[in-house]
Amino acid sequence: MDLKLTGLVLRNVPVADNKSIITLLTKERGKTVMTCHGARKLTSRNMAPTRLFALSEYIVSEKNGRLTLKESALLESFFDLSLSLEASALGGYILEAGGACARENEDESTLLSLMLNCLYALCKTDLPKEQIKAVFELRLLSEIGCAPSVSFCTCCGGELPYPAFYSAAEGGGVCPDCKKSGEAQGPFFKLDEGTGKAIDYVLSCSDKQIFSFKLSKKGLFTLGRLSEESLLYSLERSFDSLKFYKETKNENDE
Ligand SMILES: [Zn+2]
Repeated sequence: MDLKLTGLVLRNVPVADNKSIITLLTKERGKTVMTCHGARKLTSRNMAPTRLFALSEYIVSEKNGRLTLKESALLESFFDLSLSLEASALGGYILEAGGACARENEDESTLLSLMLNCLYALCKTDLPKEQIKAVFELRLLSEIGCAPSVSFCTCCGGELPYPAFYSAAEGGGVCPDCKKSGEAQGPFFKLDEGTGKAIDYVLSCSDKQIFSFKLSKKGLFTLGRLSEESLLYSLERSFDSLKFYKETKNENDE
């Protein structure tokens, strides 16, 4: 049986005999894997649509639960990311972390649209990379049901007085009293009102408005630190692509 799928390429692993295994995040089936024959030949029409950072339409045949690519057409690509090592490293993190949260045979259209919005911002706008990364991490946290709370203390439930504290282990803001009493689990980060409001905005705005806010460089740094801390804590893992992104950033900052 032939199927039509629309998806973003998360991974492309070359195997023997000109064959590649492609992992996609599709609109129709969530995360899925397909085999692709001959796409690595330079003359193949399937080459560009199966490259990393391609969004394409695929006609695949399904046999015994396995998908094999027949035809494809590129809809959109973020190949320009390769022009900057830092941008392609962050793009790689978006694919890896998003892919790690994607489920098979489930509707993952919100996650797909988040990833596409972030890749678009990274590739085609001048938004600070730290802002794109933090927005991606916060909305991903929300997608997996772990959105941090910054309006109320996660420990006593009282309204959060600013300046407050933030703990990934507690899942958001902690009031000074709970920190002091030892009720809340650390490590703690300082949370100023501007950063708290930005977190609240990113978690509650519509898909189209996720980047429509401004923070100082210092505020973005704090936001990025908290969002990353929370995502890695919630997923109980780290990502090689994140380590690589940080390396490329350090080189650029020097
Ligand atoms: Zn409290």
